[in-house]
Amino acid sequence: TELPADPILENTRRQVMQACYSVVTPKLTATPSMIHTSSELALDLGLTEDDLKSEEFLNIFTGNAVLPDTQPYAMCYGGHQFGNWAGQLGDGRAINLFEVNHNNKQWALQLKGAGETPYSRTADGLAVLRSSIREYLCSEAMYHLGVPTTRALSLALTGDQVLRDILYNGYPAYEKGAVVCRVAPSFLRFGNFEIFSSRQDKKTLKDLTDYTIRHFFPHLNKGTKESYIQFFREVANSTLDMIINWQRVGFVHGVMNTDNMSILGLTIDYGPYGWLEGYDEGWTPNTTDRQHKRYRYGNQINIGLWNLYQLANALFPLIEDAAPLETILKEYREDYQTKYLSMMKSKIGLFDTDKNDGELLGRLEENLQLTETDMTIFFRNLNKIRKESPIDDYFLNPVKDAFYVFEEVDGDIFEKWKKWFTDYQLRLQKENLTDEQRSEKMNKVNPKYVLRNYMAQLAIDEADKGDYALINEFFQLLKHPYDEQMKAEKWFAKRPDWARNKVGCSM
Ligand code: AMP
Ligand code: MG
Ligand code: MG
Repeated sequence: TELPADPILENTRRQVMQACYSVVTPKLTATPSMIHTSSELALDLGLTEDDLKSEEFLNIFTGNAVLPDTQPYAMCYGGHQFGNWAGQLGDGRAINLFEVNHNNKQWALQLKGAGETPYSRTADGLAVLRSSIREYLCSEAMYHLGVPTTRALSLALTGDQVLRDILYNGYPAYEKGAVVCRVAPSFLRFGNFEIFSSRQDKKTLKDLTDYTIRHFFPHLNKGTKESYIQFFREVANSTLDMIINWQRVGFVHGVMNTDNMSILGLTIDYGPYGWLEGYDEGWTPNTTDRQHKRYRYGNQINIGLWNLYQLANALFPLIEDAAPLETILKEYREDYQTKYLSMMKSKIGLFDTDKNDGELLGRLEENLQLTETDMTIFFRNLNKIRKESPIDDYFLNPVKDAFYVFEEVDGDIFEKWKKWFTDYQLRLQKENLTDEQRSEKMNKVNPKYVLRNYMAQLAIDEADKGDYALINEFFQLLKHPYDEQMKAEKWFAKRPDWARNKVGCSM
């Protein structure tokens, strides 16, 4: 109610002008049933275990009932998709239910897949089970990895069938419909600001920016040019921090369009994302981006910068001076170097400073790509290297499990690794920490368990048959990604051969 609303109260598709959101009604579903809920997040929201099991919860979080005195809405935003301005996009399959304030924290709760909105364009506003499982499991896993992200409260079946263009023997296939409840302080994206700027609607742009600062950057002075500049600086910083965290854990977002960039620096929109198996800077999980690989692992920080340029353009009408915005973009480039270096150093257990650290890391990144080398296993096991262990013919044993085909590590490649480990060990000897201290610190930045692409696929395949045990197993496992979990050793393993190039997912 603080923001301008669309006066039309219908879900029909249209261009919405001079308004930040449209009031909508979620779609009733055939036979809703709950698959999984996050008790931990529920607690943060002030919900009890009993609430989660109630009929009311099921109905509200599948869109079959609207909580009294609340008004569901869909937001208007635009965005640059794959580098091109796409015009109005908006919440085409997301419906915001309401906001909750609990323990002095503000949360917005949003359904994904609850039916059409004015922003659904040519699509149906629905979500299928497989993409919902992927979002549900991965967003909670990212949270426990310490990566800023939107959260997920519940995963439910709608009981409806959804048509997706999967060509199986040439025929379109129906899939089970599902709804996820996502939770975040705010779902505002770069695209929410871009849309008003693109329409030269400075008034709504200012309303939205002032609102955003008032609620989410309350320490900034209100309504001044200085506050808009500082706002942009904080968005740039949190965006960079988020992406550095993606690089740390090997997460590839897959669709870093500006409509998928959170204004709070949260990982948002789990579509065709993926996890690095073999360390490969050129890898993207997005099968529609295999040619240009715009959103490949090694390009994510650059894309963050490109997206910030778009946000800077969008905010420009409020600031009317390019210089401070350019300074902030320059700071991003500088911070990128230092923050990336220090993150990578922490992954190999270097906490002191040496002028050759950048070179040592650069060579590591090259070596990791000489043969297929599992990122998670390599870094997790690297802490087994001792300051004084001999660099003999068996020096690779501690990280041997990380190589997909160990026999390929021979000749030239073997010599490169030998040189690297020799230099690495000399460097470790200059560190103040003991082997044990270093090892412990490394285990806090190098996860043991991530949601490997084939794991999500296994959970999906079982869920399709009505068995949700793996969803729960992964959900519990990924709550403690940095801990040794004896019974879960089988998930600390290279991707099996059947899953090579097979696992990918989109909408
Ligand atoms: P995404 O690629 O997921 O970031 O989505 C881009 C745009 O398409 C956003 O405006 C989404 O709301 C919209 N969209 C994606 N999937 C659907 C769908 N099944 N129904 C309606 N809109 C959708
Ligand atoms: Mg999106
Ligand atoms: Mg999406």
